[in-house]
Amino acid sequence: MSHVFHRQLSHAYPTAVAGEGAYLIDAEGRRYLDASGGAAVSCLGHSDTRVIDAIQQQVGQLAYAHSSFFTTEPMEALADFLIERAPAGFSSVYFVSGGSEAIEAALKMARQYFLERGEPGRHKLIARRQSYHGNTLGALATGGNAWRRRQFEPLLSDVSHVSPCYAYRGQAADESPEAYGERLAMELEEEIQRLGPETVMAFVAEPVVGATLGAVPAVPGYFKRVREICDRHGILLILDEVMCGMGRTGSLFAAEQEGVTADLTTIAKGLGGGYQPIGATLVSDEIRRTIAEGSGFFQHGHTYIGHATACAAALAVQRTIEERDLLARVRKLGEGLQDRLVERFGEHPHVGDIRGRGLFRGLELVAERDRKTPFDPSHKLHAAIKRTAMDAGLMCYPMGGTLDGRTGDHILLAPPFILEDAQLDEIVDKLDATLERVLPLR
Ligand code: PMP
Repeated sequence: MSHVFHRQLSHAYPTAVAGEGAYLIDAEGRRYLDASGGAAVSCLGHSDTRVIDAIQQQVGQLAYAHSSFFTTEPMEALADFLIERAPAGFSSVYFVSGGSEAIEAALKMARQYFLERGEPGRHKLIARRQSYHGNTLGALATGGNAWRRRQFEPLLSDVSHVSPCYAYRGQAADESPEAYGERLAMELEEEIQRLGPETVMAFVAEPVVGATLGAVPAVPGYFKRVREICDRHGILLILDEVMCGMGRTGSLFAAEQEGVTADLTTIAKGLGGGYQPIGATLVSDEIRRTIAEGSGFFQHGHTYIGHATACAAALAVQRTIEERDLLARVRKLGEGLQDRLVERFGEHPHVGDIRGRGLFRGLELVAERDRKTPFDPSHKLHAAIKRTAMDAGLMCYPMGGTLDGRTGDHILLAPPFILEDAQLDEIVDKLDATLERVLPLR
């Protein structure tokens, strides 16, 4: 019996023993094409020698120094790199070990900002239904995923949820994308009014929704209206780019494509590309200054803030992406993947929607295409797809629909940016074979 407390305690996981480009290899020598980058993590694949060298070099020199005693060269260099490329307005980076921690830091920073401004009444959060912002308690309370929250309720934070921007199911047949975006913006406005604008601290959203909806971008103009509404009421905008950021959608930050800048932006997965665990919260100059000129001390912290080896790895990942112009490749491969998915599954009776940006793509599965009826969640279709795909040598990231039937099962694809064109075909072929086995209704 394994002594590891695994995610699924009774499941026998294959043992991953090696990584080679876009493939993972298990102890039996089976190869898996990593079409989901794990969970949108492995943007450079699994064997980038430059990143490996950077890690070895850093470990050899200085593995770690506690951030309450020292800064380090890789932490400073990574912060400089990010701020030089981040949208104007950001001036500092708070380094953590992953996405949930980045959200926790953002929430506490938002709260401390208002305390230091003398607005202690601002403590409420608004986020969106069917959202995921992490599994620690503050992040879990922020997310609107009923299944993940249910057994831990009541949760700590004062959070309310509005509708996500999810055109496939939310936009009415006779409604333009612009009118749909405006309707959702008004829903946010109404929620702010209901709560009392002077009590609201922040609105939290993913620019392109990953795990809970499956690569769903907002309709044009939605985030601009959200930004205006937040500004009008003095509410901070926290954009969670843990999954969609760091080039995944074809621009370094996904929000660049919306033409908006957040006050706090969280990043993680693609930042270190899985070579080391690292996340970060980008902080606006206004927030940094307010705290610097107030108490001068952020009342937070973890042991591994700015871990030197993790920062060195992330810097090597990001420099490699930039020097090899991989974001152009993400955009090109992304189009290629979308075209292939549409060609193969566009008429599939159980594929209701094919969507996404860059190398961040989603397929939503439905029992009936015309009526967009989700499969009954008790079928656990997503689990069967994951198993069957693994058997076929493919890692994809399927997720179940929501309990309330508002979302169907979907499959998220987020392959490494280094993919070859032929591997796009391999993804689509293996996915096709998987759906063929799992969905005999075809
Ligand atoms: N936010 C988003 C948007 C995510 O997708 C995730 C992870 N799936 C998290 C936060 C939490 O990140 P982590 O698992 O690294 O704590």
